[in-house]
Parts: sequence; C-alpha cells; structure tokens
Amino acid sequence: MENENAIYDALSSDLSKCQFEAYVSEYQYVLKDIKHSIKQLKSWSKPQHVSTPMLAQPGRSFIRPEPYGTVLIMGAWNYPLQLVLSPMVAAIAAGNCVVLKPSELAAATSTLLATLIPKYMDASAIAVYEGGVEETTALLKLRFDYIMYTGSENVGKIVMRAASEHLTPVTLELGGKSPCIIDADANLKVTADRLIWAKFLNAGQTCIAPDYVLVERKHSKALIEALKQSLLKQYGESAKESQDYGRIINQRHFDRISEYVAAESDTIVHGGQVSRDEKYIEPTLMLNPDLTSGVMQEEIFGPVLPIIEVESLQESIDFVNSREKPLALYMFSNNDKNVKLVTQRTSSGTLCINDAVIFMVNHNLPFGGVGNSGMGSYHGKWGFDTFSHLKPIMHRSFWADAPIRYAPYTSLKKKLFKLVAKL
Ligand code: NAD
Repeated sequence: MENENAIYDALSSDLSKCQFEAYVSEYQYVLKDIKHSIKQLKSWSKPQHVSTPMLAQPGRSFIRPEPYGTVLIMGAWNYPLQLVLSPMVAAIAAGNCVVLKPSELAAATSTLLATLIPKYMDASAIAVYEGGVEETTALLKLRFDYIMYTGSENVGKIVMRAASEHLTPVTLELGGKSPCIIDADANLKVTADRLIWAKFLNAGQTCIAPDYVLVERKHSKALIEALKQSLLKQYGESAKESQDYGRIINQRHFDRISEYVAAESDTIVHGGQVSRDEKYIEPTLMLNPDLTSGVMQEEIFGPVLPIIEVESLQESIDFVNSREKPLALYMFSNNDKNVKLVTQRTSSGTLCINDAVIFMVNHNLPFGGVGNSGMGSYHGKWGFDTFSHLKPIMHRSFWADAPIRYAPYTSLKKKLFKLVAKL
C-alpha cells in the first residue's frame, strides 16, 4: 500500500494501463486476495475430519494440508502484478517458500517487484528472479516442489517437459480463444456494454477476453449497432484520445495484431486504425472473417472482435466443440433451456452467463483451464489447496485388534470379513 503510486506508474509505463483498471484488476485485486486469505487461513489450514469405515475401527481419519516446499511462480505480462502476486499469496498462505519470475515483457513492473519484494518480504523464503527465455530455461533446470506457470500454450509445454524431469507437479494457466455465444433473446444493450468492457479492457490483452462472437444471422445487424453505440459511450469518438484505453505491450505483439487487421480488412465493420509508433490499435469489429485466417485460428490477445454469423444455437455449440476447450465460454441469453443446453453440451475452464470477465472477482470460484487452456486452478481456497499436499492421515488405536484380516484366511474369517466390510 505504501507503493500504490509506484505500482500505477509501472503499469502505465508497461501497458499504458489507466489508473482505474490498474486499481480494479491489479492493485485492489491483490489486496482483496491478501485480506481474504488472512481471514480464511485458519479454516483452510485446519485438518478436515472424515469418517472411518468399520474395518478400520477404532480409528480416526483426517486430511491435513502441508506445504509442498519451494514453488516456482512464472507470470505473464498482461496483468504483470496480479498474475505473480495472487499465486504468491496462495503459496505463502499454504506455507511454501517462493521463487517468483515476473514477465520480462512488462519490464517496469518486473523491476518494481524485484525492488519491493526483498524490501518487504523475508529474503530467505521469497525470492524474485528477473529475466527472459535464458533465465527461465536456467530456472526450469532446478528442482522445485511445485511450478505454477501463466502464459502461452507453447511455453506451457516447455514448462511441463522440464517439470517432468523432476516429477514436479504443475499448474498451467494458459490461454486460447474464448468464444461468446449471443442467443436470440439476449438484452442487446446490456450485452453490448458488458462485451465491450470485457473485450477492450487492457486493450484486449486479457486471457479471458471474449475472443470472438457467435450470433444468429438475423440478429447480427442489431448486435453490431449496439456494440458501436457502446464503444462510442465507453471510449468516445476516438479511442486514441481516451484516457481509459490502453496500448499494446510491444512492437512484436503490435505487428502480430496489425497483421490480423490488415489480412481481413474487407470484413471490418468498425475501427481498423493502427499506429505503430504509439502501439495503438483501434477497437475493431469484424464481420465474418475467413475462418482459416490468423484472427480466427490464433488467440487474438488484442482489441479485435470478430463476429461470426451462424444459423442456430446448435451451430454455435458445434462451432465451440470443433475447437480446443476454451479458458472461458460466454453466453448471453434469457432462455433457461438454451443456457442448460450450452452448459451440458460444452466444456470450458469457466462458463459465464450474461457477462464476461467479471467472474474473476469471485474468490469462491476456482479459476483455471481445461484441455489446451490449462490444468489446475487457484483463487481463494482453491489456490491454498493447489499449493498444499492434502495429506490423508489415518490414526488407529492399539485396542480391539480383531484378527479377521490376518492369515491363516479361514472360511469363517472370510464370512466375517464380508459382513464387516458391508458396514
Ligand atoms: P509466453 O508463454 O510467451 O511467455 C511467458 C514467459 O515464459 C516469458 O515471460 C518468458 O520468460 C518465458 N518463456 C518464453 N519463451 C520461453 C522458452 N522458449 N523457454 C522458456 N521460457 C520461455 O506468454 P505471454 O506472452 O507472457 O502471455 C500470453 C499468453 O498467456 C496468452 O496465451 C494468454 O492467454 C495467456 N495468459 C493466461 C492467463 C491465465 O490466467 N490463464 C493469464 C494471462 C495470460
């Protein structure tokens, strides 16, 4: 808290992140996590008693969380503070020592963390290592007791391969394309406002940002109109002039996203302006880009929102299921039957109905991917459990030692065993 302004400065320098977004999605987010963890720590760490079957009576059984040891936490650059500090809070709560590796791409935040953490934390238990590929490769050669990695699928595979050398368990928080299904009877005004906020927050560089939209052909025009209205309301005539609109992290990512825009420029229905010097990409809406193009094949991770027209809800479900399991799936609908259908027939890290991204504020929900979007989860108690070995303990008594399980295995013992095993 003493360094609140230094945190805002670093985030502004790395991503032109405005103070409101920096407060909501990084500073206050981590503070809330810390307060919640401190408040709940006693109950999370308490041994949990479970019942014991007759065969093991008299005896008691319980689960006692114990720390793994030393954990390595590697973060991504898009929420460079939250993505290392939030796992660190969980790891410390669970009693571990921590090595943090912030992303070198968010250089100002990485430097700030490397300066502040030794100042405030016990250096014998918490260490920060800065660096890029070379340093990460060196770190991954060491033996850790647990690794949490947040980043891309490709590097996730490298991390998992390195971890397998030491049989180190991993949590991989990866990305991918998070679809958004808009049902026929969705409230388009509210849908548009929530979608625009979630997509263009941090200039689209959010792992759970809606990547593309699926909408029935007959409603697409009205949806696009509502999205344009909302963009105007939230970022004004020119997002470039808005204090609240961020910039792309670096030239490499700028070029990658600009190529999506250029390659499918015929399909742009709003936006499309880019400025390399300022790493600015205008909030851009596309209608029916080529499904084999980069923008529809790779994770966009930038302020471009393709809208794909479909004929039915079933087609949307088939579309989602024909691709890798997403980190988040969004659906805007007023129809409970359709919501049930999507819930039952699709699989995703998280499913969020009638909103997007906001589910992150609920620490009672686990956050993580499934399939190619990752494995394992954290947030609140789920983070504590991730960084704990949940050790089962059975504690038996010496008295009443019925010998029915011991050899010689007579037929009477067999009958008695069958009877007791039923209890
Ligand atoms: P990245 O995987 O490219 O890089 C992450 C870090 O890995 C880098 O900072 C670097 O130090 C290291 N690294 C890169 N190449 C390496 C190599 N060859 N060997 C060893 N280490 C290497 O990811 P990124 O660009 O920082 O993040 C973008 C991705 O992260 C997106 O896919 C996004 O969806 C995902 N993401 C997921 C979450 C989540 O919580 N699930 C959050 C944010 C971002």
